[in-house]
Amino acid sequence: MSTVIFKQAAYHYPDLYPVVSQMLDALSGAISWNQARVLIKPNLLLAARPEKAITTHPLIIKAVVEYVQRRGGQVHIFDSPAIGSMDKIETGGGYRAVLHDLGVKFKAFSSQVKVDIGEPFGRISMAREPFEADVVINLPKLKTHSQMLLTLGVKNMFGCVIGLEKPQWHLRSGVDRGLFARLLVQIYQAVQPPITLLDGILSLEGQGPGKRGTPRRLGVMVGGNNALAVDAAVCGMLGIEPDRLFTNRAAGQMGLLDFTIDLRGETIKAPGFILPVLGSLDMGPKPLHKFIRKHFLQKPVAERHLCKLCGECWKYCPAKAITPEDEKIRFDYDRCIRCYCCSEVCPHGALDIVEPFPGKLMRKLSGLR
Ligand code: SF4
Ligand code: SF4
Repeated sequence: MSTVIFKQAAYHYPDLYPVVSQMLDALSGAISWNQARVLIKPNLLLAARPEKAITTHPLIIKAVVEYVQRRGGQVHIFDSPAIGSMDKIETGGGYRAVLHDLGVKFKAFSSQVKVDIGEPFGRISMAREPFEADVVINLPKLKTHSQMLLTLGVKNMFGCVIGLEKPQWHLRSGVDRGLFARLLVQIYQAVQPPITLLDGILSLEGQGPGKRGTPRRLGVMVGGNNALAVDAAVCGMLGIEPDRLFTNRAAGQMGLLDFTIDLRGETIKAPGFILPVLGSLDMGPKPLHKFIRKHFLQKPVAERHLCKLCGECWKYCPAKAITPEDEKIRFDYDRCIRCYCCSEVCPHGALDIVEPFPGKLMRKLSGLR
């Protein structure tokens, strides 16, 4: 049985540190912090102010760093941002101002190692640094995700896949969300961080995980030794059946999800949390896929007045489905695999996800969510 702890919290350091500290005390188990090389893996998707709720809040990272340093551990903070340098993220995300006196710097994962994560993926390239640390602390943000419903503890470990390997995995998984979820679970299992502390104080609902999402204050931190259990418990808090989350479903099929969770701390519910609409990506008979994709499936659409033609979306798109053309961007929706990486990385929040009217109507009539 896995233990998951819920605590009410706010971004007020004198109150936050004791909350984080109590949770880490409860989750430390046999970890010996003294002299340990501790790798913290937050969600540092891109340079975004904390009030945008896209990245793990600087005060949470500060509290964890301080906790480990007080016990004699050596802290290193790593991630592989989708766009921008770590320098930009440290400054633009408000981290430098908060963390400067603790003597820690953010680093991008830079060296790779082949790791066998099991069938059907086999040996894949992952960041070496998590495998060289004594302890990995997983610090995800509670956000919606337009492809995978939510990004929580398990999905945060996808950041241990570096740079362009990430969009390549989106491409290899294609429109098969189940396969991609399985990949995420197996990557999580390969790293097995012994502690996950999820920042749900200011969460992101609607069209996350990038700048199209809407911040929503939930005032909660959720911690556990097993991120699969943390994710399942968060679904419970949000009023969602756990197997609506693709990673939970994949873990269940792999026999990894134990639904007998020992819930501790406060009882917190977050009714009315707005989830993204997820359409099926390959519905209908095969000869009609092209037609259905065009007229029924939701798709990324650029808002011209917001698009600065910066190129981040077409550089990142795994399917090479975006091209600049006549001062605007053009999508090839036949190629597009609806991974929404473009919306995730757009620094200007210019990419909306739009469901065509026939698709919306059909979904309503068929009672699908
Ligand atoms: S949609 Fe966003 S990422 Fe793409 S070119 Fe426009 S501003 Fe840049
Ligand atoms: S256009 Fe956007 S949603 Fe489509 S494949 Fe490219 S990144 Fe993914």
